[in-house]
Amino acid sequence: MAGLVTARLLHDSGFQVTVIEARDRVGGRVWTDESLGAPCDIGGSWIHGADHNPLTDWCKAVGIRLFYTPDDDRYIYENGQAQERSKLEQAAWHGLTVAQQAIEEAIARAQAAKAEGQRPYISLADALQPVLADASLSTLDRRMIAAMVAVAEGVQGAPADLLDIEEWFPKEAHGVNAVPIGGYKQLLDDAVTGLDIRLRQPVQKIVYTQKEVQIITPQTTFTADLAVITVPLGLLKTGQLQFEPPLPIAKQAAIDGIGFGGAGVLGKLFLRFPYRFWPADHAWLLALPPSPEERGGFSSWFNLETITGAPILMGFTNGYTAANFDRHATDAEVCAAGLQVLRQMFGNDIPAPENFIFARWLSDPWALGSYSYPAVGGSLDDRRLYAEPVTGAHGAQLYFAGEATDLTDYGTVHAALRSGEATALRIYQTYCGTPRSQGYAPWR
Ligand SMILES: Cc1cc2nc3c(=O)[nH]c(=O)nc-3n(C[C@H](O)[C@H](O)[C@H](O)COP(=O)(O)OP(=O)(O)OC[C@H]3O[C@@H](n4cnc5c(N)ncnc54)[C@H](O)[C@@H]3O)c2cc1C
Repeated sequence: MAGLVTARLLHDSGFQVTVIEARDRVGGRVWTDESLGAPCDIGGSWIHGADHNPLTDWCKAVGIRLFYTPDDDRYIYENGQAQERSKLEQAAWHGLTVAQQAIEEAIARAQAAKAEGQRPYISLADALQPVLADASLSTLDRRMIAAMVAVAEGVQGAPADLLDIEEWFPKEAHGVNAVPIGGYKQLLDDAVTGLDIRLRQPVQKIVYTQKEVQIITPQTTFTADLAVITVPLGLLKTGQLQFEPPLPIAKQAAIDGIGFGGAGVLGKLFLRFPYRFWPADHAWLLALPPSPEERGGFSSWFNLETITGAPILMGFTNGYTAANFDRHATDAEVCAAGLQVLRQMFGNDIPAPENFIFARWLSDPWALGSYSYPAVGGSLDDRRLYAEPVTGAHGAQLYFAGEATDLTDYGTVHAALRSGEATALRIYQTYCGTPRSQGYAPWR
């Protein structure tokens, strides 16, 4: 999204732009898969904060309807019985309060350390592990706390011991959220209009000299005045994409300081059944993790029938469980794990799925993770520095855009969009000396 938006804005402003893409498709971590007979967004699917989001306006401009997903419609299932989550939260109020206090104390410690000029390394797990292990809490209390941690691990995109305590809160889960009916791909179709896109061109190396930028793929070398790099952060952290000369040390340190991949991933499993066996009017179907240690394995399901009309459930896996599924389990094993949870929720006589999709973003060589996360000991300055262009002798030659450059909403599609727009504007001003005219920007 960041790359397409940058390219489209500059193209429409008169620049000669080439999009160089490793895959055989555009969209990257936004992709609408139709193999289950209905559009399923296997990467980004929600428009978070849809009441104040440029993607909402873009959808409106191109005629895409939105499905607003209710936040309060969450039911927890066990053995075929449903209970409103809010009722269980009341029952587990003691444990949840203890957990909240532990988090607040840890944040206070982190802030005090920062005030003294130190870089604190306090994770969500540091704050909550003692609470999760507290035998004086009831089983329900501990399972409810584990469910809360699992939501943070999913929305923030990494296991609790990798998440910085100050950014632990999964705010996207709680705002106004909407899904584009028919899938995100419709926005990609709009974005690519008129662009010169070269697919199956994995960039291996970028050589930037005083004169030009060379972008080298196994097949060819592209030469340009400047390059905008929007690959997922993982490719820059692992050195899979090389630079000559190497990126400045401070910039590489900033890249290394931002969380991405490793054990950090959100996994999604889509199961298409012969018929719906879950209530038609519930959006979120939840289970409690059996224990804090066993959290992260498909205890959240979203009812996609309300959006696609097809009997499809989308399940989430997160934390270390998700990383293990992604790297080590077969598709059949992942599907069986999802089904096992659904049987505990709805009973053993649920039908077998007709088909399924499990997206492996961590093993995907062009993603290496799902989205950037707030790493323990990290700082927003890392993201600021990552977003800064690298200046060659003739001015800035390498620009960087993508979700991980955003200071507040990193890890989202609109962060990618925003960074693409900001980068295009920056380039336009640098090379043309005037602010960009308001051309193609249907999200405004
Ligand atoms: C499972 C999952 C669920 C998500 N859910 C949501 C959600 O509900 N809402 C939300 O807002 N966001 C969500 N996100 C995050 C969102 O999808 C991303 O933040 C956003 O799409 C990132 O866009 P980007 O342009 O920064 O990067 P990308 O989309 O990753 O684009 C980078 C591009 O670079 C290409 N590339 C990589 N390496 C090379 C190379 N060497 N040479 C050439 N090309 C290369 C890739 O193929 C890709 O096309 C989710 C992501 C995942 C994975």
